[in-house]
Amino acid sequence: MSAAARDAALDMPPEEFRRLGHDLVDRISDFLASLQDKPVTPAESGELVRSALKADRGLPEEGRDASDVLSNATTLLFEHSLLNGHPRFLGYITSSAAPIGALGDLLAAAVNANVGAWTLAPIATEIEKQTVRWIAELMGYSESAGGLLVSGGNMANFVCFLAARTAKMGTSVRTHGINREPAQRFTVYASAETHTWIQKAADLSGLGTDAIRWIPVDRQQRMDVDALRRQIEADSAEGHTPFLVVGTAGSVSTGAVDPLRAIGELCRERDLWFHVDGAYGALAAALPGAAGIDDLQAIAEADSVAVDPHKWLYAPLEVGCALVRRPEHLSDTFAYRPPYYHFDADTLNYVDYGPQNSRGFRALKVWLALQEAGRSGYVRMLSDDIGLARRLYENVQRDPRFEALTHSLSITTFRYIPGDLVDRIEEPDVQTYLNRLNQDVLTRVEQSGAAFLSNAVINGTFALRACVVNFRTAAADMDALPDFVAAIGQQSDERLRASGSGPGPSTGRESRRSY
Ligand SMILES: *Cc1c(COP(=O)(O)O)cnc(C)c1O
Repeated sequence: MSAAARDAALDMPPEEFRRLGHDLVDRISDFLASLQDKPVTPAESGELVRSALKADRGLPEEGRDASDVLSNATTLLFEHSLLNGHPRFLGYITSSAAPIGALGDLLAAAVNANVGAWTLAPIATEIEKQTVRWIAELMGYSESAGGLLVSGGNMANFVCFLAARTAKMGTSVRTHGINREPAQRFTVYASAETHTWIQKAADLSGLGTDAIRWIPVDRQQRMDVDALRRQIEADSAEGHTPFLVVGTAGSVSTGAVDPLRAIGELCRERDLWFHVDGAYGALAAALPGAAGIDDLQAIAEADSVAVDPHKWLYAPLEVGCALVRRPEHLSDTFAYRPPYYHFDADTLNYVDYGPQNSRGFRALKVWLALQEAGRSGYVRMLSDDIGLARRLYENVQRDPRFEALTHSLSITTFRYIPGDLVDRIEEPDVQTYLNRLNQDVLTRVEQSGAAFLSNAVINGTFALRACVVNFRTAAADMDALPDFVAAIGQQSDERLRASGSGPGPSTGRESRRSY
């Protein structure tokens, strides 16, 4: 080792970085340009993927040329990935990622700001603050709200959940834990359609999942507020302590928006913490003409909100955002003053706002996209996504091969129904068969590579589900989908019946199709 410069295995001469970076960006550009011509997924077996990776090889003893390593990784990823940026990727709630976000992540990693403390990341901390405020502004939430970016909706909800716990139980809960008899539980209220984050949060926070009161939903999959009130009253009468109600703005299955206005009023009346899980749908509050806009605007009344920039802000994974109306609830919940940190107490140190310590610069990709699109750009993209989901709903509604089930925000659910079963869907063995058939259709659609859907289960009915959080999806994709799915449906139906799995013969009973 010379005294002037070390020879370190990972140090890269600037000229080499420049060359490799340009090559990589060129290959990424070609990849993005060719997305729509590729299958949505290669649908390969695990064996094939592992063999492409040479999964069993040991840790290399000697290093290799960076250009080989990168070029190999690029090829592997481009050839063996599910492409959620594909225009016909409509599964789950996973958005296409804005290209500027990829550049943002590269830039963030190059600077490597540690956004745990202001001193370590002065400009990055201020950018995150501005980003959080802009997200709040976009959905009409209080601009004096405190918030931070986390890995996703689960973590964002969890942060808000813990903030509610300390706000309502006092900061002593952090040292004493929840030491009360089960007969005097702290209880939490959420609709039966709430995402599974709430079970993890109840468990991890020490409440236990028994503390969750699952409130039934109405036909539109929205929380029944009368049932909520009755449950709260019953629990109080039994000596429990209700403290938190979770309303969902855009449920994961059908995009349903709970009656947030009424839930907020009930929470105020009874001094309960009102949290909104808007991981998917909260940003629709920015759309003046959106269906259910009054409830979306009631997000402004919430004590805390979780919203996912890696969903409807189209940021590359991972980034979720937790917002709490009064920032001190975050520091009350998370701040410690360890002797080994000498951070200025008058500046914002994100270590004090959440569970993480070292933190990456997640804000940059979001901040860049918010500026590139502006509010108007986002309003148009979100409205277009909703319009496309509605178009699909209308397409399947007028198509006798399908039953249109739900449309809310940018999620449409429907199912394939063979012609001879249209008038028999109330018969129990036909219901069972249709569930089986549509599961098979879903598997085959996903494996086709031509489009990607996921599913919902609505009152026991297995539904195909398209969720458009994808700025590359166009009307033509929505118009092509019914014929494509129906063709697969017909094949599935023929195969299932040929294998003896079809429904029994008609019982001859008249049964009306229900809508
Ligand atoms: C996606 C989603 C979550 C979970 O968010 P992640 O980013 O996947 O952790 C929670 N709630 C709702 C309503 C969601 O749509």
